[in-house]
Amino acid sequence: MPLPFADRLNNVETSAIRELFKLLGKPGIISFAGGFPDSAMFDVEGIKEAANKALTEEAGGALQYGATEGYNPLREQLAAFMGSKGVTVAPDGLIVTTGSQQALDLLGKTMIDPGDKVIVEGPTFLATIQCFRLYGADLVSAPIDANGVDTDELEKLMAEHKPKFVYLIPTFGNPSGAMLSLERRKKVLALAVKYNTLVVEDDPYGDLYFNEAPPPSILSLSKDVPGSRELIAHCGSMSKVLSPGLRVGWMIAPAELLAKATMCKQFSDAHTSTFAQATAAQYLKAGRMPATLAKVRKAYGERALAMGAALKRELGDAIEFTQPQGGLFFWARLTGAGGKTKDAGEFAKRAINQGVAFVPGAPFFAGEPDVSTFRLSFATADVGKIEEGVARLGKAL
Ligand code: PMP
Repeated sequence: MPLPFADRLNNVETSAIRELFKLLGKPGIISFAGGFPDSAMFDVEGIKEAANKALTEEAGGALQYGATEGYNPLREQLAAFMGSKGVTVAPDGLIVTTGSQQALDLLGKTMIDPGDKVIVEGPTFLATIQCFRLYGADLVSAPIDANGVDTDELEKLMAEHKPKFVYLIPTFGNPSGAMLSLERRKKVLALAVKYNTLVVEDDPYGDLYFNEAPPPSILSLSKDVPGSRELIAHCGSMSKVLSPGLRVGWMIAPAELLAKATMCKQFSDAHTSTFAQATAAQYLKAGRMPATLAKVRKAYGERALAMGAALKRELGDAIEFTQPQGGLFFWARLTGAGGKTKDAGEFAKRAINQGVAFVPGAPFFAGEPDVSTFRLSFATADVGKIEEGVARLGKAL
């Protein structure tokens, strides 16, 4: 007899990507598949020092139960960190979450009733699709290009579907790598006000730019658009720059939403690890973040350039892509030029046989998938491995 699981589980399935990850253990595989930062980038010394300080200076807080909203010294540091990025927020204007993934779950829990429409980008972060569907969301996919979501299409979809909220990854999206232009960011704010609709800005990659800083976050720009600030929920994360293992993220949102999210978080994990929070707070307080950011930007920037050049050399006009200006990902499309395959799933299988892995793009679409798309991460392989891996991709194609 099968166990009587909740009906909501029928809305989701184990991701196709997880199946692919099982193959990655094969010896000699070069993986462009993961969404991980490079472990070699972790500032282990800095984190050790911060953890030590947390234990010597504030063990009573760092090892004790804490407030659901977050550990105050961290909330203060995060408010200052956001301040350095043009966002004025008081420490109690944000809550700490267990990774930004938990913020997405709390948004699902607090906002989504079964059948509710939610607009997401096509493509978007797979775990968001799964998470919102678990709450019964009826996802509507808005098309994107190299400048992020097409705001004319977004407006049409907002007018037609009257969504509960709109979920965007405006800066170096996962999987798209795309960066929403300043003009479109302003348009998104205007749409939020015009349709009185919450916009979720998921921003784990915004600090990972290679050369020029991206346009200010939608949250930061909201100060110039009357009435818009109360319609933005912004999710941040320590994962991509500092360490995903710390599981420290945060959400800045209207007070009413933060209160409801906090209530739900209380029943879920009571609070994010106080030890991790105290460590993150000490890390920020020690002023190590700027140097860490400079280091990861440089390393990932070099890898992105190497991958772009290798892709052009090895795959030529059989694929098209926009060179990412930050983040961890290339998003590419098989063109079919020279009679080559346009099916990224088939290409992925052939690539595994050649000893290189990546993820086909189809699972990242909540709507009609574009099966010619795929995602390559340049974060975890060094330049030599990137060149070898892309050469294998050339052979596979
Ligand atoms: N949002 C996006 C767009 C992501 O790519 C990720 C991580 N892959 C997350 C949220 C979750 O990250 P974390 O929970 O580690 O902060």
